[in-house]
Amino acid sequence: MTLTQSSQNPPMIRLSGVRKSYGHFEVLKGIDAEVARGEVVVVCGPSGSGKSTLIRTVNRLEEIASGSITCDGNDMHGSVPASEMNRRRSRIGFVFQNFNLFPHLSVLDNIAMSPIRVKGVARDVARSKAKQLLDRVGLADKAGAFPAQLSGGQQQRVAIARALAMEPPVMLFDEPTSALDPEMVGEVLAVMKTLAADGMTMMCVTHEMGFARDVADRVWFMDDGLILEAAPPKEFFSNPQHARAQRFLADLR
Ligand code: ADP
Ligand code: MG
Repeated sequence: MTLTQSSQNPPMIRLSGVRKSYGHFEVLKGIDAEVARGEVVVVCGPSGSGKSTLIRTVNRLEEIASGSITCDGNDMHGSVPASEMNRRRSRIGFVFQNFNLFPHLSVLDNIAMSPIRVKGVARDVARSKAKQLLDRVGLADKAGAFPAQLSGGQQQRVAIARALAMEPPVMLFDEPTSALDPEMVGEVLAVMKTLAADGMTMMCVTHEMGFARDVADRVWFMDDGLILEAAPPKEFFSNPQHARAQRFLADLR
């Protein structure tokens, strides 16, 4: 890409020289990577390689020791007032492995709460938007239910709708299907697939290699705190460059 192009169309996420340690253990060893606007990146790699830590640094759920991270042009690790940092974070949707819904709120209120509280959206507007989002994730009939009354797959689809309610330009997913019974994985991946088809920028940590094949623009393979490979899925799956990536793929089969 020429300089002009990149300044006119900066990446959605840019990670530069990102390092982080837990005590003496360096978990991120210098990450340089970009997610383009509209791009879907699947992050894979062995357990403990740093995938969760990496994705959580993007919206500053984890601090970094050095380097920089921008999202939609905003510095995510600079020293800015807490209110401004919260505003920046509210523009990044995050979906966790364990859904993290508010157990005491109805499905509808789970979705409408942040737009009302954080963005000051009028209650009726937020609730009607929440209904549309529920419809979009196939749960129009569950507005009044509480999280405990839903299956894992349904809860995760509510969690996706809740993240979308803030109208973020980018969505991050950390193993969104890993806590689900196998028969519920497909319904969550299907919702993620429609998001991707609608042009959402997405960074997804997942072991679902079928999803990576079908939906990802690029796969990042992490091992031991580094991104060892970043390639389109066709290339990555047919011709992994590193022995560690080859072993990782062989172990999945
Ligand atoms: P992954 O998501 O790829 O499985 P993680 O980012 O969760 O990897 O963890 C990477 C490494 O960092 C692991 O060795 C893990 O034990 C360690 N780690 C993660 N979180 C913490 C923490 N809060 N304190 C200390 N070590 C941690
Ligand atoms: Mg993880």
